[in-house]
Amino acid sequence: MSSAVEVNATSKYNLNYIVSEGEQPPTEIHGDVFDRQRVMKNFHQGSVEQQRVFVLGVGGIGSSIAMSLVRTGVDTVHLLDRDFVNASNLNRQILFSLSDIGRSKVEAAAQHLKQIHNLRTNIYDYHTDAVTNWSGVVEIAKKCTVIFNNIDYGAVFDYAVNSLCKSLGILYVAGSTYANNIEINLFSGLPNDPCWACNNNTTDSFKFTTQELENRNDIQLFLKQMSCISGEQSRSVIEECLNELKLKMPSASQLSTLFMPLYQQKTLELLLPQNIQKHQSIEFIPKDRSFPTRTVGSWVGVCVSGACLIVNTWIQYIMKTRNSNSDMNKPFHNWNQLNLSMFDGGYYTAGFPNEQNLKCCPVCSNAKQISEQNSYSEEK
Ligand SMILES: [Zn+2]
Repeated sequence: MSSAVEVNATSKYNLNYIVSEGEQPPTEIHGDVFDRQRVMKNFHQGSVEQQRVFVLGVGGIGSSIAMSLVRTGVDTVHLLDRDFVNASNLNRQILFSLSDIGRSKVEAAAQHLKQIHNLRTNIYDYHTDAVTNWSGVVEIAKKCTVIFNNIDYGAVFDYAVNSLCKSLGILYVAGSTYANNIEINLFSGLPNDPCWACNNNTTDSFKFTTQELENRNDIQLFLKQMSCISGEQSRSVIEECLNELKLKMPSASQLSTLFMPLYQQKTLELLLPQNIQKHQSIEFIPKDRSFPTRTVGSWVGVCVSGACLIVNTWIQYIMKTRNSNSDMNKPFHNWNQLNLSMFDGGYYTAGFPNEQNLKCCPVCSNAKQISEQNSYSEEK
């Protein structure tokens, strides 16, 4: 009886083929763990095995994304998270068990991936904070072909990761799940394609009510308490804004109508593709005061199925660009929404392609500028 297991059949036997509609798959290699996906119509296992993936956040969706990725046989997975496993995570974060409570999430995730799920992937884990250790994020991203952004810090953090992807020309994939809802986004990172910022804005992240702003003498302390804005760079941006506006003791309404919009403008400028790789830390960005999971709830249904759908969207994109049979001009559905509740009108989905908004998107116009400069200097 033979017990051969072959996890590298793709390169070893040069199985870089795509089975097209109506074609018979070639003879099965004994022990080939990826046989059942390489024989799927229009599936290119060789492309999957070349992917180097950065998973930012291994919580609800991130842990299931990491599991799905190693099962497909990608080359490398980098896991980054600053959190520790909490009892209330265990109903949905499937890489952790009861005995992991209190452990570093990435350490526990990497260990269980290696013990149970991994087939051929190199797995690295980083227990660190993406916001305060942004330069670490940049260094890892440079080695990758895609970032899955699952960190719940708010719109400006998403803006920063999206801009980093655009500056590196790598894919940005993100999703969110809560209660019965799943949302999926994918952007190619290419200069002529849309990005997250084309159809989303960060204005709400910089907004405070007059009531919140009243009786605030120390704007620095206020921004730290309300939005976790801190660090050397935030101090100088705050100062710059006050100087430019010639405000010494701004009133609540001056803060909300003059100061915050300027702070937003300067912050987004620091996050453009031309600047995004330079920062040691991005503590100057606001953390959203968004609803905590406690108030809306979450469960294994949306986390696991959402994660699989997110990974699927990415796989479909890879196959579309790889497959000579696919119609490249057909728009790709890079925005999808799904609701699992039977009470909320039953299953329904919505999906459509986002369009590039060059006129209004600072990230896209900056990335395009950079790519035009690069091709000009190459021509010379
Ligand atoms: Zn854009």
